[in-house]
Amino acid sequence: MSRNKIKKIYKKIKQYDTIVIARHVGPDPDAISSQVGLRDVILNTFPNKKVYAVGCPASKFKYLGQLDKFKDEMYENSLLIVLDVPDKARIDGVNPDLFEYLIKIDHHPYVEEFCDIEWIDETSSSAAQMVIELILNTKLKITKEAAEKLFIGVVADTNRFLFYYTTPKTFDLISNLIKKTNIDFTNLYEELYLRPLKEVKFQGYITNNLKVTENGLGYIMLSDEILKEYGVDPASAGNMVNNFNYIEEMITWIILSEDKNNNNIRGSIRSRGPVINEVAANYNGGGHIYASGVRLAKDENSEKLIKELDQVCLEYKQKQ
Ligand code: 5GP
Ligand code: MN
Repeated sequence: MSRNKIKKIYKKIKQYDTIVIARHVGPDPDAISSQVGLRDVILNTFPNKKVYAVGCPASKFKYLGQLDKFKDEMYENSLLIVLDVPDKARIDGVNPDLFEYLIKIDHHPYVEEFCDIEWIDETSSSAAQMVIELILNTKLKITKEAAEKLFIGVVADTNRFLFYYTTPKTFDLISNLIKKTNIDFTNLYEELYLRPLKEVKFQGYITNNLKVTENGLGYIMLSDEILKEYGVDPASAGNMVNNFNYIEEMITWIILSEDKNNNNIRGSIRSRGPVINEVAANYNGGGHIYASGVRLAKDENSEKLIKELDQVCLEYKQKQ
C-alpha cells in the first residue's frame, strides 16, 4: 500500500518543475524539518526544479533551515505537497485550491480528503519518518544536512523514541538514514533541547501551581501577565506540556495559555491513557489520541473543557 503511494508521489515530484511544500500553522520541529528536508533533497536530486518550503517562519526553529517566501506566481502549473496536516483549514500560507496537483503526506488521524494523492500513515511516528521512508525508497538523493533535520523531526515528535508510535519501522528507517549519511546524531540533541534558564524557572512555576483532580487530570491556566513575568511566549509555554509526562497522580494534563496577540487561549493536552482528541475536536482543535491541541475563543470555554477532560479521565479509570 505505502510502496504504491511512494511510487506515485515520486512520479509526480519528477514530473513537476515547480513544487511548493507546506505544513500546518503553528509549526513544530516535525513540520519544519519535514518540509525543509524534503525541499533540499528534491533540489539535490533535480537541481533545475524550483522547490519552495513555505509558511510563517518560527525564529525558534531557525536551526532547521530557511523557509521561502510564497508568491502568487508559485500557484502556476505547480505541485503542492502538504506535510503533517490532515485538514485544509490548518495549512499555513497557501490556498490549496489554486494548485494544479495536490499531495498529502501525514501521520495524523484522518480528518478530510482534499488531495489527489493522500498518503496517510497513522502508524508513522512523525511526518519526518514518512519523508525518510519516501527518500530511502525512491531515487531521491539524501544529503547529510537533510538527514540531520529529518532525524531531529523524528526525535521531536517521538520525544526521543519514547512515545507509543515509535515502532521497529521507526528504528529501521533511522538506522538506515544514519548508516547512509553518517550523521553525528548525538550532537544534534543540543539544538533541540537547549533552552534558557527562564524557561526552566517557568516550568517550576507550572509544577508549583498545577491543579490535579481526583480523576487524574492536571491543569493550569497561564495568564498573559504570568507569561510576561517569566518572559515566555504562549507557544513555548504550550511546548512544556511534554515535560509533565509520567507523574503518578496525572493520566491526562492540559496547559492553557492566554495568547493576547491572537486574542484567544491555546491549549496543549497530553495523555497516557484516556483518548483526548475527540474532546479536543469539540473545542476547535484536534490531534492524536494522546496528544492534542485546542484554541479557545473565550475564557468561559476553558472550564467546560477541563470538566470534559476530567470526565474522560473518570471513565478511563472506571474501565481499568
Ligand atoms: P501541540 O500541543 O503540540 O500544539 O499539538 C499536539 C497535536 O495536536 C499535534 O499533532 C497538532 O497537530 C494537534 N493540534 C494542535 N493544535 C491544534 C488545533 O488547533 N487544531 C487541530 N485540529 N489540531 C491541533
Ligand atoms: Mn507531526
